[in-house]
Amino acid sequence: MIEFTDVVKSYPEGNDALKGVSMQIEDGEFCYLVGPSGSGKSTIIKLITGEIKPTSGAVHVNGYSLERIRKKEIPYLRRTVGVVFQDFRLITNMTVYENVAFAMRVVGAREREIRDRVPYVLDLVGLAEKHQRHPGELSGGEQQRLAIARALVNNPSTIIADEPTGNLDPAMSLEIMSLLEEINNLGTTLLVVTHAQDLVERFHKRTIVINDGLIVSDGMDGYYGYENQ
Ligand code: ADP
Repeated sequence: MIEFTDVVKSYPEGNDALKGVSMQIEDGEFCYLVGPSGSGKSTIIKLITGEIKPTSGAVHVNGYSLERIRKKEIPYLRRTVGVVFQDFRLITNMTVYENVAFAMRVVGAREREIRDRVPYVLDLVGLAEKHQRHPGELSGGEQQRLAIARALVNNPSTIIADEPTGNLDPAMSLEIMSLLEEINNLGTTLLVVTHAQDLVERFHKRTIVINDGLIVSDGMDGYYGYENQ
């Protein structure tokens, strides 16, 4: 579960990025986070992954209290939260298989587990046949699927996808959103940060709208409230 209670985040040399955000995302939910550039979306992601701490308020993620988490606990928190980065962050000189296997190796998985798990995850995202390719030989949509496979491989309870359709054409975007929906149906909590209004409307899920550091709407109404700013 992700829970923010009255979270304020001020950066040393900036305005308040979050001005009192409270929200709760239950296990198993699929939730969009939308809002204009500079509204605080990345700040929310960084608070969830423990990259930054709140100035005040409480952030609870999968049993960890982020406002007082110890440094050595952060790797354990991060095993519960898989992040799909906007720029993919794939390792270009490793194969598709190795990119995913590497994510398991860095958390100390055994070779046996890696051999079992990587093919399963590559199959889930539809990349089984391309396991020997390199990222440079994949389409944008395939690279995105590889980034999703890597986020999934350590079996996190939560996945955060930052603009997963940002660089994709409409057909590919639809495919990626369907894949994220399928992953959610398998039990993973999904938080999807996006600007893609058409997809938000099409997939009709809970949508948290943030503007200028405050939540301005939270519900199944899509961009309602956001459009009326
Ligand atoms: P979004 O992801 O919605 O574009 P951000 O969370 O990146 O928004 O930013 C929210 C606000 O915080 C913006 O006004 C931005 O300029 C400011 N901000 C973000 N990161 C920093 C930082 N490291 N130092 C100072 N200000 C920052």
